[in-house]
Amino acid sequence: MSLLRLPLATPRFCLLCLSLVLGTAAWASDQPPPAALRSDSGRFVAANAEFTLLHEMGHLLIAELDLPVLGREEDAADQLGFISLFLSYGRQRDADFYAKLLDIADYWRLEWQRPKPDYEEVYAWASHGLDAQRFYNLACLIYGSDPDQLEWVPKVTGLPVERALYCDQEYTQVREALAWVERQHGRPPHEPLRHRIQVIYEPPSLRVEDGQRLLEQIRRSGEVEAIAARASQAYRLPRSLTLRLANCGAPDAWYNRNSGELVLCYERLAHFQMLAEQLPRLRQAASQSCETCSKP
Ligand SMILES: [Zn+2]
Repeated sequence: MSLLRLPLATPRFCLLCLSLVLGTAAWASDQPPPAALRSDSGRFVAANAEFTLLHEMGHLLIAELDLPVLGREEDAADQLGFISLFLSYGRQRDADFYAKLLDIADYWRLEWQRPKPDYEEVYAWASHGLDAQRFYNLACLIYGSDPDQLEWVPKVTGLPVERALYCDQEYTQVREALAWVERQHGRPPHEPLRHRIQVIYEPPSLRVEDGQRLLEQIRRSGEVEAIAARASQAYRLPRSLTLRLANCGAPDAWYNRNSGELVLCYERLAHFQMLAEQLPRLRQAASQSCETCSKP
């Protein structure tokens, strides 16, 4: 539904019944679901670690499957990362799910608003989009995934109506692009698994307690292994690959197409933790901006 569509006249209790039957959200579409704007630094770090891995997995698929890319590869990797994460949650589109999606978009808003030294700035000539553009791109895909239910998303993110009007088309393009990749390169379930993505953990060399705590959290969640296994099983990979958690000296992540190695730096996880401290301020501002969501 576009933002211009009139509000549904269906009584709220019927919407709730329908929601229970379909397993979809049961809140008014112009209000955030309860708890979607709640700040949680652990969830913020985990959601952004997952998105970072899936963004790099996007680069991996582009390189290993020789995918055609129109436009900037970094934008394609963001889109592949978003849609892979989005679909991995199936129909569990509850408040916590949308809180995670907002965590991922808000990471780029925090980067955009953060004063940075020159060497950390993203310039117009760089291969990556500007932090603000990546924020709005993700906000648009979130909203475009279900505009009927998510009228509150443009309000809490500040996504202007000029962009929001076409976000359902942007989401559909990304969803169809992934469906094409799956048709062209998907591994049928009965086909033997020839190549896998192996996960390797370097011992973290951050300050010992932080590093060890991070490592324990990551290993306990099993999320890294799950992402590697899903990609190994979903696609016909042409060779065995590695996903390494490493000490890099910078909050970075990358895919090296020569060595076939995806690297996620412990420093990037620590950077997410540092930025998570700003999340309550951001969410409070979002709440205030949405106090008028349902008012004319
Ligand atoms: Zn990238």
